[in-house]
Amino acid sequence: MNVSAPQLAKSFVRDVVNPSLAGWERSATYPRREVRSCGLTGIFSPAADGGLDLSYAEAVAVFEELGRGDAALAFSLSMHNAVAAAVTRAGDEVVRARWAQALVSGEALGGFCLTEPQAGSDATAITTTATQRGNVWTVSGSKAWVTLGDEADVFLVVAKTLEEPGHRDVAMFVVAADHPGVRFGELYRKASADFLPITDMELQDVDAHLLVPPGQGMAAALAAIDVARFDIAAISNGLHAEALDVATRYAMKREVFGKPVLEHQGIAWALADVATDLEAARGLTRKAAELLGSDGGRVAVAHAKRFGPDAALRAAIQCSEVLGAYGWLHDHPLARFIALAKMLQVVDGSAEIQRIVIARDLIRRTSE
Ligand SMILES: Cc1cc2nc3c(=O)[nH]c(=O)nc-3n(C[C@H](O)[C@H](O)[C@H](O)COP(=O)(O)OP(=O)(O)OC[C@H]3O[C@@H](n4cnc5c(N)ncnc54)[C@H](O)[C@@H]3O)c2cc1C
Repeated sequence: MNVSAPQLAKSFVRDVVNPSLAGWERSATYPRREVRSCGLTGIFSPAADGGLDLSYAEAVAVFEELGRGDAALAFSLSMHNAVAAAVTRAGDEVVRARWAQALVSGEALGGFCLTEPQAGSDATAITTTATQRGNVWTVSGSKAWVTLGDEADVFLVVAKTLEEPGHRDVAMFVVAADHPGVRFGELYRKASADFLPITDMELQDVDAHLLVPPGQGMAAALAAIDVARFDIAAISNGLHAEALDVATRYAMKREVFGKPVLEHQGIAWALADVATDLEAARGLTRKAAELLGSDGGRVAVAHAKRFGPDAALRAAIQCSEVLGAYGWLHDHPLARFIALAKMLQVVDGSAEIQRIVIARDLIRRTSE
């Protein structure tokens, strides 16, 4: 029987993530074996490489299902899939031979290194530099916020190739994590998702394989981030939908002052507003899926990435309140969802950065 990708994601969440998440959290262990066998490690990679080759419209439901389980795990899959897609679609024969099948099958995990200690929202402030000697490139510098640091096998590293300001010289490289010049820092201590390793990364004369040539690296990184932002919008809708389901089920059963919580109009209306926000967020995400890769794609994604996580955070807080004191317990996912929605607001470009993209488009359209 052929199982669709959203069904695969749904059963992964139901049968693997939900029963095991607390254990992964307690042991602070990334579920590598489970991720390898989940069947969702080649979402945007070609079928010829063993990938699912999903359209963005098809991928919406996959990331929404993953977001219902755990947004941090879903985020790591989004990032891995961005790496797998770049390697399978843009890699030369050498890179493809080493990494394409390994990434798509999930045998190898991928990570993405753009952010540096001094360069977060302003990616043009990066200073990590690649140097070419003959045909060989080496990369040196410091990266920050490396998700799957000390866990992934291969990283896409965005680096400058000249000692001049600006980003016109930026290129993207494939770097093997086991090169002796790669060092990972201490695990970041985070508000949530102890199982997801995030570290600094030092690179000292590390052999690097050119993936995107100088001059095209920043545009390629931003294009990859557009897809990641779209994934995050869908993930936040999943978190939002699950929070609403949990709160509605609870409020239908729990009685206060002689009737179910949901029959108190203040609660029913609050949940109605959460439901309206969810419909709006899903609409923006569907539109982003439609336009991604075309002219209006970047701004459509910015609308979805700005609205979705903000709405999901409001939803998680509201739904937690519906459960009263119980909303704070680990028996329900709502306290965890509040921390995760906060994370979704920032990863792959904060809400403020999405507003900048939207405002620039407003100005451009109004000046035409
Ligand atoms: C869980 C997690 C995982 C991550 N994983 C990765 C990863 O794997 N690889 C990677 O490369 N990066 C990763 N990041 C980094 C992430 O992309 C950056 O954190 C993000 O780009 C924001 O950068 P910053 O935190 O340095 O904020 P800053 O750039 O220092 O911004 C600080 C504040 O100012 C606001 N701000 C910035 N510029 C403006 C402006 N022009 N106008 C108004 N407000 C502004 C920001 O929105 C923010 O609120 C991760 C982050 C998180 C939280």
